[in-house]
Amino acid sequence: MGVGSFLNRSGYNRFMFRYGCAAVALALTIGCGKTEAPAETDRRVTGTSQERDIHSYARPDEVRVTHVALDLRADFDAHVLSGTATLSLQRNGSASEVVLDDKGLDIQRITGGGSDLKFALGNDDRILGRSLTVQLPPNVSEITIAYRTSPDAGALQWLQPSQTAGGKRPYLYSQGEAIFTRTWIPTQDTPGVRQTYSARITVPRDLRAVMSAEQLTPDGVETPDGRRFEFRLTHPVPPYLIAIGIGNLAYRQVGPRTGIYTEPAMLDAAANELVDLEKMVTAAESLLGPYRWGRFDVLVLPPSFPLGGMENPRLTFATPTIIAGDRSLVGLIAHELAHSWSGNLVTNATWSDFWLNEGFTTYVENRLMEVLYGVDRARMLQVLDRRSLDTEISRLGPTHKDTMLHLDLKGRDPDDGVNDIAYEKGATFLRTIEAAVGRETFDAFLRGYFDRHAFQSITTAQFLGDLREHLLHGDRQLEERLKVQEWLYQPGLPGNAVVPQSDVLVHVDEDVKAFAGGAGAASITSAPKWSTQEWQHFLGTLPEKLTPAQLTDLDRTFRLSNRLNAEVLFAWLRVAIRNHYEPAMPALERFLTSQGRRKFLKPLYEDLMKTDWGKEEARRIYARARPLYHSMSTTTLDPIVKSGS
Ligand SMILES: [Zn+2]
Repeated sequence: MGVGSFLNRSGYNRFMFRYGCAAVALALTIGCGKTEAPAETDRRVTGTSQERDIHSYARPDEVRVTHVALDLRADFDAHVLSGTATLSLQRNGSASEVVLDDKGLDIQRITGGGSDLKFALGNDDRILGRSLTVQLPPNVSEITIAYRTSPDAGALQWLQPSQTAGGKRPYLYSQGEAIFTRTWIPTQDTPGVRQTYSARITVPRDLRAVMSAEQLTPDGVETPDGRRFEFRLTHPVPPYLIAIGIGNLAYRQVGPRTGIYTEPAMLDAAANELVDLEKMVTAAESLLGPYRWGRFDVLVLPPSFPLGGMENPRLTFATPTIIAGDRSLVGLIAHELAHSWSGNLVTNATWSDFWLNEGFTTYVENRLMEVLYGVDRARMLQVLDRRSLDTEISRLGPTHKDTMLHLDLKGRDPDDGVNDIAYEKGATFLRTIEAAVGRETFDAFLRGYFDRHAFQSITTAQFLGDLREHLLHGDRQLEERLKVQEWLYQPGLPGNAVVPQSDVLVHVDEDVKAFAGGAGAASITSAPKWSTQEWQHFLGTLPEKLTPAQLTDLDRTFRLSNRLNAEVLFAWLRVAIRNHYEPAMPALERFLTSQGRRKFLKPLYEDLMKTDWGKEEARRIYARARPLYHSMSTTTLDPIVKSGS
């Protein structure tokens, strides 16, 4: 998903925002009478251990949304989606009202059982938006809400043609995680309430709609006012996974279950980069059990997409910055694919449990990289991740509460409280358990975990219960030795954390030492063959200060300012900024004005703002680039670039 965390990663962070990277299954879906959830989804996780989601007004224990049926029209002139959402409800006993989440929606009318229903909007909270409470007459279990979205709905980015690769047609995409779905769909917007969905989306005739659901009308159906596309998802998902993209989209199949949607201009490059998609799905299945979502397609978005990727079911959304030309950055796709199990199949019940989504996913992603590209690559990635974890803990301070896996998010937007900890500390915790019990035992636990909680949303406490029952088997000594409580509920990094080792990177360390000691760049004879990860490590561990001669030597020898690989270029630009290396500044400006990925933008603008010359540059470039960026990015960047003025 797309969260903020990654914001602070030192250098390389592939994910989060990489990816940017939901609740109680009760899915008896009934929808408009069309969908029927598989029997495996008919489970409840609302036991007493279920924690209340402080980021939603919903009271699902009284009335719960089980299915959302959308009928919306996209107006690219007004930047508005308008139409209806029909919600199927499951009522508990005598409950007489349903409480939904709404942020900025224009609610026009609500009907049910053939008549208008009374509704009321609560106070508008800056973070949560408003509650939408609808009175329910007896026997009404389906309500239809007529509404319009606001032109500045946080979930929806409307792009001008000039902001797309093709340059001729507008584009729209959504980002629901963490709590943006309420800005375009009035529903119970909590990962604890899983919902199936269906949709009819009408778009201008020359555009195509895609969603995180089964495509029922691949070519659309002509209507008097455009083209209509229909979708359905019969697996219950947290609402943050309901996602839409509309644009001039082409499609290419790359395997029996896999394919790419993107603008025609990017299709060849994207399909070439992601040629291993099907292999990845097969590798993931060998580790985690069956892939349960049918297709695994990828939508490669225009450059403004603020995240690395977003694991929308059946249709991962991905930044075009993964297109490096050499398939070196496809780890991001492995991460999103891993979310098909951790996150989408078994979901954090509240945002405080976010590590259950991202820690498991980061762990699994690395295992996939090992299967696909070998143990050396996997170990290098672990070392890089660990460096980023150490950096994050020292940035926050080892006793800071945001270094805990189970987060305290009271009074905060989930995006603000979430950081690399959920990813890297979570993965390190799982690796530490794996090292203690052995891979075979841990893998059996992992597969069982996904089976036991498939299509459910669970809390950290429920995870702990599962771990005790199915892995620790009541062995108190083992639990103490693993420091399980400390990992989950205490800040900092427990002393038993495994330390990743990479022989490959040890050699790079020697090169860094030699170069820092005065050896010329040309003496690093292995560099021309380095992988992205070796470059990230080299550039990320160079001394803070380099001489102008050293910078010129590096740049001329390895043509670093001309790199197309976004991760390598990013790592180099950080070195260049902190040493005020002028010749790299055109490359910096190009990079900042040609993509909108927050993970890259935030550190670069922060670095610039540390010096007087940099402040001026940052403000000048930001004024040019800001219209390109997604609101998720500008919300993060505005205060940074305005600071110190
Ligand atoms: Zn993720």
